This record gives sequence, C-alpha cells and structure tokens, in this order.
Amino acid sequence: MLARTALRALTAPRAWLPSACHVCGTWPASPLGQPICSACVQTFAAPTARCPTCALRLDVDSPCRIGNCRQAPAHLDRCATAVDYGYPWGQLIARFKFHGDTAWANTFADLMASAPEALALLDRCDLCAPLPLTAQRLGERGYNQAWLLVKALLRARPSHPACKADASLLLKLKDTTPQHELSREARLSNLNTAFAVPPAAMPFVARKRVLLVDDIMTTGATLAAAAHALKMAGAAEVNALVFARTPAD
Ligand SMILES: [Zn+2]
Ligand SMILES: [Zn+2]
Repeated sequence: MLARTALRALTAPRAWLPSACHVCGTWPASPLGQPICSACVQTFAAPTARCPTCALRLDVDSPCRIGNCRQAPAHLDRCATAVDYGYPWGQLIARFKFHGDTAWANTFADLMASAPEALALLDRCDLCAPLPLTAQRLGERGYNQAWLLVKALLRARPSHPACKADASLLLKLKDTTPQHELSREARLSNLNTAFAVPPAAMPFVARKRVLLVDDIMTTGATLAAAAHALKMAGAAEVNALVFARTPAD
C-alpha cells in the first residue's frame, strides 16, 4: 500500500516537478512543469467552434449551425466543454477520477478556462456547483473530482467578481449508472429523482444563475436531471461546463 502511494506521488503531475509529456513522452513536457507539452495541447485540445447549447462541434453538416440543435440537454440553458472525450483524455480522466491523481484538476481546469464559451459562462454565474456524487460513491472515492475542478477553475479566475463555489447546493440521492438494464421510462424516472436541492440551500438557489461543473458529459441526461432539480428550486438559469464531451456519432 505504501509502495503504491509512493509510486502515485512520483508519477502524479506536479506543477513544481518537470516531467515527460504524459501524452507523447517529450522531456520535459514544459519549462513551467505542466504535464502535457504545448504541441499535444495544440493537437488534442485546440479550441474549436461548438454549439452553445449542446457543446458538440459545429461540423459543416451540423443542424446546430442553423439553430436547430437536437442534442441540447433539457433544463440546461447553455453548455461548454474544453475537449472531445477520446484519446488521450479518456485515460487521463480515469487516472484523475479513479486512481487518486488529483493534480490533474489544475491541467483540466486550465483547459476548461481556455474554451471559448467557458469564460462567458463563468462571468455570468452567481454560484458554481460541482455535479455531486452519492454519499456512498464519495465515501468509496474519497473525493469528488467535479469539486476539485470547481476549486481549480475559480483559482484560475481569482478576479471573478461574484461567483461563489458551493458544493452543498445539490445532493445526489442515488446512482444513475449503470442503467443499461432499465427501460427508457425507468431510466428517466430514476434520473428525475436522483438529485435534490436540500431545503437549507433553497434560499441560496432561488433567482440565481448556477454553473454546474463536471468532468465528462456523455448524453447530458445526468446534467439535465441536476439542472431540473435546481430549476425546481427556483434557479433563474442553469449552465454547464465540463472538461470532456462525448462527440456525436
Ligand atoms: Zn506531448
Ligand atoms: Zn447543438
């Protein structure tokens, strides 16, 4: 156990230690200690034009281009992402989320803050909230990766006038995955009762613009369920900012 912890400490990306690029192996990845070289950032995380309501790329034949977005998650006003979910981000997110490499929050948050839509979303929010985990999942993992992203994002934007980070606005009451064995109706009903705003948080949510933050958006159904709970509690607007968005088929 100790050996594994020591190994993790040595391999985790640290801002003050030079390391090889975690994607291409170039040494050092950067003179400032970032874990990914600028060439890889340019290749795999270049800002791109995206639909403001579904965060998918605005490809030539995308219906979103003509304002006909069909993938926008319900109850979310706008959403933005830093990258498409895929190589090399999938394996790096897994290390961040499942293997305790929490320092990746800084790299991912920097990339999120570079997304063209992200600063506008940060600038207009009153409250910035992580997608919560169930108490059981939080106990197993020991941390909520989305909360680490919120804190890193707001550290990167210290001059922000009013946005307040708050991890107590929303509760996740039950796990929504895996749901493959459920019918569509059962899945929707499961999602609709998965999130709740605790009574003590209701006065803080009413009439506020809330920015939900998470690591991955797949279909957006989970974010939609969370946004629904916030709107039921009186939120004026709910937007989402994620690190990686599963691309369209
Ligand atoms: Zn590289
Ligand atoms: Zn769209």
